[in-house]
Amino acid sequence: MQNYELRSNGPEETYAIAKRLGTLLNEGDVILLEGDLGAGKTTFTKGLALGLDIKKTVNSPTFTIIKEYAGRIPLYHMDVYRVQDSAEDLGFDEYFYGDGVTVIEWAHLIEDQLPDEKLAIYLYHQGDDERKLILKPSGTRYEALCKELLNEHISD
Ligand code: ADP
Ligand code: MG
Repeated sequence: MQNYELRSNGPEETYAIAKRLGTLLNEGDVILLEGDLGAGKTTFTKGLALGLDIKKTVNSPTFTIIKEYAGRIPLYHMDVYRVQDSAEDLGFDEYFYGDGVTVIEWAHLIEDQLPDEKLAIYLYHQGDDERKLILKPSGTRYEALCKELLNEHISD
């Protein structure tokens, strides 16, 4: 499956991209966020929350692993950086196949537990405020989602 590339010149642009994606998401969607510390994974999640009509401020769930937010559909925000054992089953499936959108920062750390169909987004530092975003869809649903997101982004 094809990869899709986007550029962001600042946090506001990342919010805007993520917000647009958020408006396109449905129940049971799973988004993986990968990238170094400070790449913008949590910033992206905040924008995505706007697109899900979440009113509460999304903060990093570092100490809780999973935080839930109510919106148009619920958001399950996970940061699995501190998961000790990658095989430890913390009941992730209930979220992945639940009635909300799941966003997972550092998802590769629980690689074996992830569903087959998902959208992985890699964020790369390109300077102080510049980021490269690579979208890697698995499954036709996410492929279509990427196409829709990029078309809208270009025509914007
Ligand atoms: P992570 O969750 O990947 O560790 P954060 O989203 O917490 O990263 O932090 C990203 C930091 O980089 C924030 O301080 C944000 O304001 C800053 N930043 C600068 N430019 C961008 C950009 N284009 N996209 C996202 N964040 C950016
Ligand atoms: Mg983070």
